[in-house]
Amino acid sequence: MTADLDTIAGWLRDARHVVALTGAGISTESGIPDFRGPEGVWTKNPEAEKTATLQYYLADPEVRRRAWQNRLRSEMWTAAPNPAHEALVALERKGRLHALVTQNVDGLHHRAGQDPGIVVEIHGNVREAKCVACGWRGPMDAVLARVEAGEDDPPCERCGGILKSATISFGENLVPEDLERSQRAAADADVFLAIGTSLTVYPAAGLPEIALRGRRPPGRHERPGDPLRPRRRRRGARPARHRAPRARRPGVSGGARRTRARRPGPPAGNTAGPPPVGETRPLR
Ligand SMILES: [Zn+2]
Repeated sequence: MTADLDTIAGWLRDARHVVALTGAGISTESGIPDFRGPEGVWTKNPEAEKTATLQYYLADPEVRRRAWQNRLRSEMWTAAPNPAHEALVALERKGRLHALVTQNVDGLHHRAGQDPGIVVEIHGNVREAKCVACGWRGPMDAVLARVEAGEDDPPCERCGGILKSATISFGENLVPEDLERSQRAAADADVFLAIGTSLTVYPAAGLPEIALRGRRPPGRHERPGDPLRPRRRRRGARPARHRAPRARRPGVSGGARRTRARRPGPPAGNTAGPPPVGETRPLR
């Protein structure tokens, strides 16, 4: 971070389309540990990452039992939004924030009062459970009640299949529509904030790059209606499989980052340079 706060405030005042990407770091102040930080859940216990990997989750009942216990005890159920979440709500109310893409599944942006219409939970959420066999979805509360009542790996009541939280695990496809909305929003950003994300894994980490390459035709900034509706057809919105990161990207750290879209510029090519690797913040 080289710019001071006044400079950044100036960017935000002048901006017409602020887009924010948030990761686990925005919620640590709310008492939810991140995954890859120094005190991260996976840093301290790499084995725990298995509960967030579909392959292990499906193959090993013990991994599922552990995952259900983790869900039952998760800090997410009692966590409250912190001033960072509230600042984004304030930015929205000033008419600046047009999209908020979050890697978090904790629902704290919603709880802070963010308009659900501008939030894209690119890695799903923990409010719902889903069946990996028949696609059933329902409230997480009801399934957790079954766990509390003694079912350590509750099956789908409709088909007997394996249940999990409605988050995107490693090895699972992202929801193409969510990814596409995020990429469109990034391409339209004139200020892009990356908050509390290490930007180590794709495709979420590719969004700032899209913002840098994106461009909007002059005079079309104030188009009414859904700020996330397509303004132009973009290539590269292919379904991305969610995989564990292969390597850290050097020179990138958490905190607010800002990019300004070049305009005019060359047409955007694929939405992310490196292959979509996928990243999530699944409930362990
Ligand atoms: Zn089912």
